[in-house]
Amino acid sequence: MHPDAGWHRRPRSGAAHRARQREYASRAYRDAGRAAARHVATGHATCWRCGHHIPPTARRGPDWQLGHDDHDRRLIRGPEHTKCNLSAAARKGAAIANRVVGQPRRAQSRPW
Ligand SMILES: [Zn+2]
Repeated sequence: MHPDAGWHRRPRSGAAHRARQREYASRAYRDAGRAAARHVATGHATCWRCGHHIPPTARRGPDWQLGHDDHDRRLIRGPEHTKCNLSAAARKGAAIANRVVGQPRRAQSRPW
């Protein structure tokens, strides 16, 4: 084994690799979206958040969407009700807002 044999085995990092990963991620996302749409169309899909049925008449976007994991956006969880995603986002947003804002502002003056 040559002392410099490992030189060519560069670590899988750097911009090019990250770009490939991004490209792969978006392609995987599109594929997952198509698979989810087919699944919803069969009428057997359920929302991964609430576990309830997603009817085959549901429209992608207003009624259902491809859901990501809340903690790791790279994870695709499957179809979810749009309203379930919005309520999850609202909960998360409210938690952040409460932490940042802290106590509610008091009224500056009293009318009496
Ligand atoms: Zn749901």
